[in-house]
Amino acid sequence: MDKLSLEKIRSEFPILSEIIYNKPLVYFDNGATTQKPQCVLDRINYGYKHLNANIHRGVHFLSQRATEAHENARKAVCDFLGADKREEIVFTRGTTEAINLVAFTFGEAFCSEGDEVVVSVMEHHSNIVPWQMLCERKKMTLRVIPMSEKGELDLDAYKNMLNEHTRIVAVTHVSNVLGTVNPVKELIEIAHVHNIPVLIDGAQAVPHIKVNVKELDADFYVFSGHKIYAPTGIGALYAKEKWLNALPPYQGGGEMIAAVTFEKTTYNELPFKFEAGTPDYIGSTALAEALRYVQEIGIENIAAYEHELTVYATERLMEIENMRIIGQADKKSAVVSFLVGNIHPYDIGMLLDRLGIAVRTGHHCAQPLCDSLQIPGTVRASFAFYNTKEEIDVFIQALKRVVGMLL
Ligand code: PLP
Repeated sequence: MDKLSLEKIRSEFPILSEIIYNKPLVYFDNGATTQKPQCVLDRINYGYKHLNANIHRGVHFLSQRATEAHENARKAVCDFLGADKREEIVFTRGTTEAINLVAFTFGEAFCSEGDEVVVSVMEHHSNIVPWQMLCERKKMTLRVIPMSEKGELDLDAYKNMLNEHTRIVAVTHVSNVLGTVNPVKELIEIAHVHNIPVLIDGAQAVPHIKVNVKELDADFYVFSGHKIYAPTGIGALYAKEKWLNALPPYQGGGEMIAAVTFEKTTYNELPFKFEAGTPDYIGSTALAEALRYVQEIGIENIAAYEHELTVYATERLMEIENMRIIGQADKKSAVVSFLVGNIHPYDIGMLLDRLGIAVRTGHHCAQPLCDSLQIPGTVRASFAFYNTKEEIDVFIQALKRVVGMLL
């Protein structure tokens, strides 16, 4: 990213000019949520000004305009993920809701006592708890793929774990704590040898690397809009059509039905069968705008620049004594987690905040991962393409000061 385009990009994100405690904001909490460009903010505004009417059922002009915008947004998500058909895209509130949808409906249709679900040790709680709930409900077992010290999944252990009881594998594409980019294509291939479907949690992947669900041959792929410059409250589930046809509905209500009598209800066609109630059509159109924006910059350009930032940040962090980088996988995304000596991550985060720097501290909703590493959590700096090396310099200088105070 050259300096000029970086300046232009930064000017497109109004919040980046905020002053925090009299200091220019340095926002390194992009793994938690990303900031929104003006075009996305404008799109939300435009939606309420020009196409706000409930969709699908209306005969009137505005409703049809809103329906068209919402369905075009579905096509945008479909194209972004490299899926075949828009029917394979279900809008959800985000990653968490999408995983719950699959865990519940897949559990209803295909799981019974004695079956097993495989997740990995580096999952976010949202890719653990829904499966645990399924295991409790159906008296099943949750199996966990371990990882190496570097933070890479143990593929041999994974292979040995799959058996005739395994019903589904659910793994994150990119770890939100370690930054590890998992070899999901290989994980899927291995599971498919046993005819086991795979869900990939793409929450930390889609903002940073090119994803093609067809190339991966993923059965289910989920992500959240707010982590890719879109508003909160909208996300998507990609699922192969065969699975969506085979799964029962998740929630009941309007939109998801074909016909209702008190005796029997028949369900709507795909994907509406899984979208009960008024959908977030303002959010979906803003999501489509965010995806357009990201594609305009180019996901490969984003990946290359963020890699530069991550390598630079890691090198500079190593200047600090007693620095421990948590997660040293060969393939990493735009996340650097670390600890310094015995200092509690929370103390570092609090003091950095006073210097205008937003990082995240704690277990990052991956408590089992932190337990397995025997750490209380980490300090996590996570980058987006609007961040700069100058910001990293400010961060390192502040961190040195903070560490000096706490040691
Ligand atoms: N999965 C991963 C890897 C995440 O990092 C997150 C959020 O941090 C989630 C799932 C949950 O996303 P959401 O809260 O948007 O549903």
